[in-house]
Amino acid sequence: MQVEIDKYSGFCFGVTRAIKNTENLLNNSDNFFCLGNIVHNNKEQERLKKLGLSTIDYEDIDKLLNQNLIIRAHGESPEIYNILKRNNLNIFDNTCPVVLKLQQKIRKIYLQNPKNQILIFGKKKHPEVNGLLGQTNDSAIIISSFEEAKSIKMRFPFFLFAQTTADLDEYLKIQNYLKKFLSGNDHEDFFFDTICPSVKNRIPQLREFCKNHDVIVFVSDYESSNGKMLFDTCKKNNESSYFVTDEKDLKTEWFGNFKSVGISGATSTPIWLMENIKNEIINLILNQNE
Ligand code: SF4
Repeated sequence: MQVEIDKYSGFCFGVTRAIKNTENLLNNSDNFFCLGNIVHNNKEQERLKKLGLSTIDYEDIDKLLNQNLIIRAHGESPEIYNILKRNNLNIFDNTCPVVLKLQQKIRKIYLQNPKNQILIFGKKKHPEVNGLLGQTNDSAIIISSFEEAKSIKMRFPFFLFAQTTADLDEYLKIQNYLKKFLSGNDHEDFFFDTICPSVKNRIPQLREFCKNHDVIVFVSDYESSNGKMLFDTCKKNNESSYFVTDEKDLKTEWFGNFKSVGISGATSTPIWLMENIKNEIINLILNQNE
């Protein structure tokens, strides 16, 4: 039996950068707070907590004064930055450069077109989406599905953006639907496919990976929207796909007499967790054959 970890899975560039910067900070002091969970993965959260990272929720941020505060890869809204400055917090900003560029683009379009509709395709209340919404003084409309897009009363001109981890197929469906409201104008001026290239590339790579293995074990956290989307891709391409959060979720019967097992994960899944799962699968298979 072959057990292979998907070489394209695991932390994306933005998350890797945020985690590395945080580890470096924690090497010198353990007096750091992160606003919200640094990554949508409980296991990685627990590991960083042991290194000294504290997490503060949005409801409590008003009470935190004169401390070191880490901003995660998702970025924040201008309103949050105002609170942080007012509370004299020492900010370590790990907003992913791709997200930052998107925030700036939305801000620019909003300032140039303050009365027009700005649509953002993404998950409502997701921290990245909250940060994008804040660039429009909370005036943008968040669309979480094609069905929802159809229910919006469109006013031309409008502008469409996407959360960096959004589903490309669903985005394209929305874009195609909205094209009919363009009245012959050039769509490049109104539609901005801002899905991150590292997320976009992952779907075709994952499709291939799923087809090349008998069983797929997908490692993520229920909190991760990217994990949910990538697991849907696994299910569509390999019926024997299973979602796990850690080794304890594995079941011996999944592996039967199959020849190959593929392990993949979300942009928030640490590689060490996938390696632990690989070792546990090998143990399960060995015990089964004894
Ligand atoms: S998915 Fe892309 S944009 Fe989002 S944090 Fe990762 S690298 Fe940055």
